[in-house]
Amino acid sequence: MEHVPAEEIPWNPAPEEHFTGRVWFGPLSKVDGGIHALAVQFDPGARTDWHTHPNGQVLYVVHGSGLVQREDGATVEVSPGDVVYSPPGERHWHGAAPSSPMMHLSLTNEPAEWEPEKVTDEQYERRSGA
Ligand code: MN
Repeated sequence: MEHVPAEEIPWNPAPEEHFTGRVWFGPLSKVDGGIHALAVQFDPGARTDWHTHPNGQVLYVVHGSGLVQREDGATVEVSPGDVVYSPPGERHWHGAAPSSPMMHLSLTNEPAEWEPEKVTDEQYERRSGA
């Protein structure tokens, strides 16, 4: 067994070309079998670009307040303990709320496929169909 204290997680900046705002990756994976576990920390207002996952993705919200949206859906607020499942190939984005940071755990077994489009401020600020 290996215990990695929180302060020894090797946090590093997420690639700017696929994100808006400040985002950090905390790699966690140490298991065989291809599961990629990644903690992702978003500053307030920070978010991913539009993307898909070839085999889907599970998100588990650890702290803060976040937003998720699929292409044909409203923007949904997420809180600690919430789980978001994105099926294979579904176009979506995720990130922090405008006034709160957010951290989620991401579980995948293939790298994301990134779209060329950023999530515009208009898309980001749009709220549930109301
Ligand atoms: Mn995703």
